Amino acid sequence: MPLHLFDQWRRQSPYYNDTHEELAQTVRRFVEREVTPNIEQWESAGEVPRELSRTAAEVGIIQLGFPEEYGGISEGVDLFHAVVAAAELAYPGASGLLPALMMHGVALVPVLKFGSEEVKRRVAPDVLAGRKLMAICLTEPSGGSDLAAIKTRATRRGDRWVLNGSKTFISSGMRADWYTVVARTGEPGSEGLSIFLVEKGMPGFTQTRLEKMGWHMSDTATLYFEDVELPGEYLLGPEGKGFMLAVQNLNNERAGLAAGCCAFARAAIEEAYDWATMRETFGRPLIRNQVIRHKFAEMMMRVQGCQAFADQMTWSLMHGKVDHANLALCKVQATRMLEFVARECAQVMGGASFVRGCKVERIYRDMRAHAIGGGSEEVMLEFAARHMGFH
Ligand SMILES: Cc1cc2nc3c(=O)[nH]c(=O)nc-3n(C[C@H](O)[C@H](O)[C@H](O)COP(=O)(O)OP(=O)(O)OC[C@H]3O[C@@H](n4cnc5c(N)ncnc54)[C@H](O)[C@@H]3O)c2cc1C
Repeated sequence: MPLHLFDQWRRQSPYYNDTHEELAQTVRRFVEREVTPNIEQWESAGEVPRELSRTAAEVGIIQLGFPEEYGGISEGVDLFHAVVAAAELAYPGASGLLPALMMHGVALVPVLKFGSEEVKRRVAPDVLAGRKLMAICLTEPSGGSDLAAIKTRATRRGDRWVLNGSKTFISSGMRADWYTVVARTGEPGSEGLSIFLVEKGMPGFTQTRLEKMGWHMSDTATLYFEDVELPGEYLLGPEGKGFMLAVQNLNNERAGLAAGCCAFARAAIEEAYDWATMRETFGRPLIRNQVIRHKFAEMMMRVQGCQAFADQMTWSLMHGKVDHANLALCKVQATRMLEFVARECAQVMGGASFVRGCKVERIYRDMRAHAIGGGSEEVMLEFAARHMGFH
């Protein structure tokens, strides 16, 4: 394998140090032991076993970046530790693993920011120990791009709230125990939205599983809320501020998605390169053909550009310099890069890339979810254009 391909490049980056490398080794051992041997089984089953979250918590993956007082690990941890952990989870080339394990990375944030002390204690320690799972619920059957048009409604009844509506495409939607749900409490538009916590098993709350093109090991569901009664304290944050809070929460997700695309791309390139050195056509290894070598050079050129952009965005977030427009562009650039790399790697591998069981086959179909989820391409470009003043 050429130097710098999957992880060696980090040694020359100003953003990573020995603590990141130590964490990378820990996560890699976890992945080799607990994940790699089971990938095909979980892809067929349509989910990962719940115990995986507990095992991941035993080595400190689930808790990364969350406050110590609720069972998190925050001392000496920065956003690049999360990037490194996600990259190592991406190495086996099964994108469904990340949502299956890490949805609390987005869903738990409003609970810790705005929940009462009692709610925080009820939810966070179990989630951070991998005993309970979470899901984040924004998208509805009527659409996901236009968050301000959310229809699911929460109505105040005495000191309680009553929730009615539906959410769809929800990752970990079948297995989660706690759901962070954005619902309408006021007038039409972005000012009328609030965030709620919903618990599995509450009367009136049901789910159905969705069968997907990729991300097979991540269970995805449509959720139905029919007169679900919520205690008053399950409103998270100020009433009417849900849109702003949800959008802020998506910034971290976008930087993580972009960095994740770089890791999937490197994993695909590594597999395709192994193939190109081993496979012989017309009497010589594939890699001896200039046209094939140039594919690798071009793929690396695009990965390096995206990695630099994603790392800069992570650094900005870490220092409180949120750059909404560039975060959106970074996410689009990275997903387009991954789309290109997956196609080129599949081309290098020929028919072998079309057969289930290799990374490139999974990455090729899984990457569609990256391009759509967390803000899809057209919406992100429009958002960036407006923020940058191109209107
Ligand atoms: C595998 C997977 C997992 C997901 N997990 C979650 C989850 O855990 N929680 C959650 O809340 N959501 C989740 N989503 C949903 C995801 O966030 C939405 O699919 C996404 O926001 C787009 O919404 P939509 O699919 O309803 O497309 P729509 O909003 O119907 O848009 C359809 C297409 O039209 C484009 N478009 C929309 N408006 C415009 C416009 N004005 N101009 C030009 N083009 C436009 C969009 O970019 C998109 O490509 C997941 C999706 C997938 C595929």
